[in-house]
Amino acid sequence: MLNIKVDILGGGVSGILSADFLSRKCEDVDISIHENKSFRDYSVNCAEGFINSRGWLGKLNEISVSIKPYIRNDIDESRQIFYRRGDVTENVVPTRNFYIVDRESWQKDFLRKLNENSNIEVNMASSSFDIDGDVIVDATGSSESDYLAKAVYGVYRGNFNDNQALLEFREGEDGYYWIFPHSEGVANIGYFGVSDVNMKKVREYVENKDVREEVEAGAGLLDFSLSADMHGLTEKKLLKEHKNKPMVKVGDAAGLVDPLTGEGLSGAVSSSYILAECLSDNRLESYEERVRKENLVLKKSMNLFRKRKENFDKFIEEVDILNQFRASSFKNKLLLLLKNPLKATKLIFK
Ligand SMILES: Cc1cc2nc3c(=O)[nH]c(=O)nc-3n(C[C@H](O)[C@H](O)[C@H](O)COP(=O)(O)OP(=O)(O)OC[C@H]3O[C@@H](n4cnc5c(N)ncnc54)[C@H](O)[C@@H]3O)c2cc1C
Repeated sequence: MLNIKVDILGGGVSGILSADFLSRKCEDVDISIHENKSFRDYSVNCAEGFINSRGWLGKLNEISVSIKPYIRNDIDESRQIFYRRGDVTENVVPTRNFYIVDRESWQKDFLRKLNENSNIEVNMASSSFDIDGDVIVDATGSSESDYLAKAVYGVYRGNFNDNQALLEFREGEDGYYWIFPHSEGVANIGYFGVSDVNMKKVREYVENKDVREEVEAGAGLLDFSLSADMHGLTEKKLLKEHKNKPMVKVGDAAGLVDPLTGEGLSGAVSSSYILAECLSDNRLESYEERVRKENLVLKKSMNLFRKRKENFDKFIEEVDILNQFRASSFKNKLLLLLKNPLKATKLIFK
C-alpha cells in the first residue's frame, strides 16, 4: 500500500517495532507514534526475558536498533520446579536463545532513533491525539478492561546464578513464581497469576532466599485472550473499524501473551511484522488470520495452563515435553520426538 498515513497508539515494543518494520517495507508511508508517557517517565514493567519460544525473535536482526548491545545475560539453563502434595519435582532444561535484555534502554534508544527517520514522528507525553491516519494501530498494551492476569515483581540484590532462569509452579495455584537474573548479583523475582496477585506474595517467597535488598518493584497486566477465545472466555477481534478507518491491534493489545510463560515479546514481534507485510501487500484483511496462525503455540500453552488446576501431574509431564521442544536444538527436538513419539506428536503438532 502506498501513500498512507499510519497512526500508532503506544510507544512500547509493539508500537516501536510496527513503526520500524513498516518504514522498511513501505516506502511512501508516514508514521506517527503517540506515546502517553514522557521520555522521563517512560518505563517498562517486565522480567526482561527474551525467549525465542515462537521462533520470531530472529526478525529482530532486521531492525534499526540491534538488541545485542542491550543483552545483559545469556541464560543457559531453565529450572522448572513443581510443588505437589509435599513433593518437589524439578525439570532442568538446557536453553538456547534465551537472553535477559535491558529493555528500557533499548526501547528508549529505539524511540530516539525512529524520531530521526524522516517518515516517522514520535510524539511523547501526548494524550490528546490528533489522529487522522488511514490506518490506526492499537499498540497500547494490555488494557484494564481486557486483561486476564496480573504480575508483580521486585528487583533484589542477593546470591543468584547469572545464567539460570527459574519458574516455580505450585499445585492449586493459578500462577507461578519466577527468578530471572537481572545483572551481576541482582535478580528479578516475581509472581504471575490470574487471582490473588500482590507484592506480599513475592516478599513471602523471597524470605527464605539469600536476598539482601529490594532495589525496585513493579507490576503490570497480562493479556492472553487471543488463546482464551477457544474456551469461550473472550472474543478478541484484531481488526476493527474506528471512525470508518481500520484499527489493528498488535502485541499485548492483541492478547498475545503466552499464558504458560508470561512471555509477550514474540507476540509483539510477530504481530508487528505481519502488520507491516499485510500493509505493504495491501492485504490488511488477512492480518487477523495470519496472526492467529503464527501464534498457534499459544493454544497449546493455554491448554496446559488450564490443566494445572484440573490435573497437575499431567501438567508437569506435558510442560516438560513442550519446554524441551521449544528451547532445544533441532537435534534435541528429534531426540525428544523419538523418546516420546505419541505424547510429543500429540502435544506439539495437534
Ligand atoms: C511483570 C511483567 C513481566 C513480564 N516479563 C516478561 C518477560 O520476561 N519476557 C517477555 O517476553 N514478556 C514479559 N512480559 C510481557 C511483556 O512485557 C509484554 O508482552 C510487552 O511489553 C508487550 O509490549 P506492548 O508494546 O504490546 O505493550 P506495552 O509494553 O504495555 O506498551 C504499551 C505502551 O502504550 C502506552 N499507552 C497505553 N495507553 C495508551 C494510549 N491510550 N495512548 C498512547 N499510548 C498509550 C503505554 O504507556 C506503553 O508505553 C511481562 C509482563 C509483565 C507485566
